[in-house]
Amino acid sequence: MKILKTKEELQNIRKTIQSTVGFVPTMGALHDGHISLIKKAREENEIVIVSIFVNPTQFLPGEDLDAYPRRDEADKKICEMCKVDYLFMPEIPTMYTKEEVLIKAPNKSYILEGQARPGHFDGVLQIVMKLFGLVLPTNAYFGKKDAQQLSLITQMVKDFFLPINIVPCEIVRESDGLALSSRNVYLNETQRKDALLISKSLYAAATLIAKDEKNVKTIKEKIYEVMNSLDVEYVAIVDKEFNEIEKIEIGNTVILVVARFGQTRLLDNIWL
Ligand code: AMP
Repeated sequence: MKILKTKEELQNIRKTIQSTVGFVPTMGALHDGHISLIKKAREENEIVIVSIFVNPTQFLPGEDLDAYPRRDEADKKICEMCKVDYLFMPEIPTMYTKEEVLIKAPNKSYILEGQARPGHFDGVLQIVMKLFGLVLPTNAYFGKKDAQQLSLITQMVKDFFLPINIVPCEIVRESDGLALSSRNVYLNETQRKDALLISKSLYAAATLIAKDEKNVKTIKEKIYEVMNSLDVEYVAIVDKEFNEIEKIEIGNTVILVVARFGQTRLLDNIWL
């Protein structure tokens, strides 16, 4: 595995690659969720490129940019083990130089995660577009865990006619159901235990739906009931384009929940 720091190194190497390139963009502190994306990329492409970049433009003032977990050495070992070909680890001045042309996410990026974090998705799309421009991937791998991000990136690729195939990847969970996240390290013991109610609420919803309950209001009530003791930020039931819906439509529904544990926001969702 080769570690690349500058965009020139990456661009020079990219010019020599004729075969398929699978790309996994991350912010590091890699866990089994990231690893599942890398493994899928490894299976489906000749060359695998992973990036690790904690992107400042997607953090709002007062968020955890400075505290965001950084584990470069462990991450390098993980990528090596996963047989990554190139690990791109740029510094901020490599990715952002001066006042730039900006990508503006559509209005629907200001609901749900975008309502809690206005402007967050502008920063996400900006960095993903830049990374796509450097890596020129055939396939790019994103987790369904960040459902709204996945939906907006899919739309960006379509709107800008980018010849890139976006591959959605399943959510990886701890054995007890908690969705893996680099931010889980912020949880204390009690919070870690309480956080289980998030995935439990989604499983309870799925059970109701399996019993043929299709009414969104009833399902939301069930989810709130299970998470009764938590600081729930939102529960949303939307279609794949993130429009609110009233009736569950199997194959075109995502249920999203966010709960707060102190400063830490935990996201989870299921795709029906
Ligand atoms: P991040 O490092 O948090 O920016 O995440 C990088 C990629 O890993 C994104 O596409 C995430 O959706 C994905 N990801 C994060 N957690 C998980 C998980 N538990 N299961 C699957 N994918 C994940």
